[in-house]
Amino acid sequence: MAALSVAEALDRILIGVVPVETEFVGLLEAGGRILAAPLAAMRTHPPFDASAMDGYAVRAADVVRLPATLTLIGQSAAGRPFVGSVAPGQAVRIFTGAPLPDGADAIVIQENATSDGSLVTVVDGRPDADHIRPMGGDFTAGQCLLAPGIRLTARHVLLAAGMGHARVPVHRKPVVAIMSTGDELVPPGEHLAAGQITASNAYAIAALATAAGAEPRYLGIARDTVSDLCAHITAAAGADILVTIGGASVGDHDLVASAFQQTGFDLDFWKIAMRPGKPLIHARNGRLAALGLPGNPVSSLICARVFLVPLIARLSGATGLDDHAIRAQLTEPLGANGPRQHYMRAALDHTLDGQARVTPARSQDSSLSALLAASNALIVRPPNAPPAAAGENVSVLAIDF
Ligand code: AMP
Ligand code: MG
Repeated sequence: MAALSVAEALDRILIGVVPVETEFVGLLEAGGRILAAPLAAMRTHPPFDASAMDGYAVRAADVVRLPATLTLIGQSAAGRPFVGSVAPGQAVRIFTGAPLPDGADAIVIQENATSDGSLVTVVDGRPDADHIRPMGGDFTAGQCLLAPGIRLTARHVLLAAGMGHARVPVHRKPVVAIMSTGDELVPPGEHLAAGQITASNAYAIAALATAAGAEPRYLGIARDTVSDLCAHITAAAGADILVTIGGASVGDHDLVASAFQQTGFDLDFWKIAMRPGKPLIHARNGRLAALGLPGNPVSSLICARVFLVPLIARLSGATGLDDHAIRAQLTEPLGANGPRQHYMRAALDHTLDGQARVTPARSQDSSLSALLAASNALIVRPPNAPPAAAGENVSVLAIDF
């Protein structure tokens, strides 16, 4: 099998994937969730003409010539409207957020008036309709203002609440089962005997999946035997995605592909033209999609960012979350790229005049997790890209994990 391009591999991972079911959540839990249905306003906002200032509600015709003295007939405060109507020569004391009384059509701000008992004298300024927030100026009942597929952030939750929704329909969080594989692996914090290393990747993948809106479920470490791999894979039943870490290349100790086959998965592909991360398995068993990530920590995390995050987005019904590369100037030259798309760890910053610039990390070894943690960007070098000189613009993805 020839290695697939990153774009082809992503297409094949996403093809036919449909969003998981819908559930209703309260607004306090809605942040970060994907809206599953259009949301329309159940009411008009503001529900009445409201004052935007503290001052006096008047009839504009009464204050054309200044100074003008009017009779105060009451007050309108937020939550306690004035009952009655403002007749010629009359005014109502009014506060921010209070309904504009009948008969009034302008607000005189309090700085422009002096009051004395039941009289108020407007001394300055222009009565201004700008100080009135008209009924429906924000939105009107029936208007559809939030589209399905958006990830609800604070400003969307604000609008949903204002529109009168106490609960909102969102997609259930896709469940991502994660398993480590390897005879050498020991859980974090435990003693390392000779030849052992800490199994770190699963925790990073879990954090990435959580940030992408999924619910991670850790299945532990499978030893490098087909039977133990099969037992762990079977334990993923009920999840939406299974992520395996390690053992993805076709070698003596790389048994993940055969374990997938023995547990009823159809292998789609197992090799991609990407660096880091050439071995990458995609397999499916009914509705359960499996991604077999490479074991090297940096490869595993970058592959998860490139393939798992869009898969979670698709399963959770999200639209419009595509990665947007920016262009940045290289601070040093780069050699020609080989046949695989290279995601190079790098430092992105800006010059004083706002120009984005990027410096590749000193090593691109895919086992260096400290170097990945210190990087904030990936330079994306297309397959067979020619050498690039310092000062040239290259494509860069900001690291968001
Ligand atoms: P593999 O793809 O299984 O050949 O693993 C490649 C390299 O990644 C080896 O050095 C493994 O020890 C290491 N590795 C595999 N799985 C993990 C893991 N879960 N956490 C950290 N390193 C791992
Ligand atoms: Mg291994």
